[in-house]
Amino acid sequence: MGALLVAGNWKMNGSRKENAGLLKSIRDQSATLTNSQIVVCVPFVYLAQVSELLSGSQISFGGQDISAHAGGAYTGEISAAMLRDFHCTYVIVGHSERRLYHHESNLLVAQKALSAIQGRLKPIICVGETLEQREAGNTLEVIDAQLKAIKSVLSQQDLQQSVIAYEPVWAIGTGMTATPDQAQQVHHFIRGQFGAVGGNPPILYGGSVKPANAAELFRQPDIDGALVGGASLIADDFITIARAGEPPGNT
Ligand code: PEP
Repeated sequence: MGALLVAGNWKMNGSRKENAGLLKSIRDQSATLTNSQIVVCVPFVYLAQVSELLSGSQISFGGQDISAHAGGAYTGEISAAMLRDFHCTYVIVGHSERRLYHHESNLLVAQKALSAIQGRLKPIICVGETLEQREAGNTLEVIDAQLKAIKSVLSQQDLQQSVIAYEPVWAIGTGMTATPDQAQQVHHFIRGQFGAVGGNPPILYGGSVKPANAAELFRQPDIDGALVGGASLIADDFITIARAGEPPGNT
């Protein structure tokens, strides 16, 4: 198993008090990890607190969205430079909740990824199909369209700074995880799409990843880590997931 990236997506959860307890526990328990890099993606308003609490640790952090614009008259938006100002290194773009509730198109997601890279952040670019699309047999077609937009905007060099997260929409927050075989099939397809243009970004799996299913998912050859929602809010679960990617002597 190669090095793993385990990223937590807090979504719209947390409070200053809860964050302090959660981060202390994650920080204490993650100190002995050797193979898994941990990232937490938090609500913007907590970035200053998170930056302070994680200072000097091995844990990286970032936002959950970014503007496609570098700055100016875009009320309510947050730029890459602002995220860098708070020492972020990652940012999630194109999460299915943003695609669904904020009507983010494939092109806009790709432009946000570019904006992140231009601001020296690593975008975690989410792709994935709905249940309806899977049942209609259109999974790979949907992923292909999402990747085409990304490849049309990002250069090979940009892709080297990026992370892809395959998150089947039907598995997010539902307790329904893709089987390791289902996930591997799509990850292999994604890997193949980048093979042609190079760049080879790491590919995370997301969708109800839990301590009970992480090890099996991480054994798949094209799964390079996880994007974790609900379980990232429970320190013991999040760390157990990260430990599933450790070599046998360090579990
Ligand atoms: C997510 O929010 O990206 C996610 C994968 O959520 P969950 O792990 O709760 O399914």
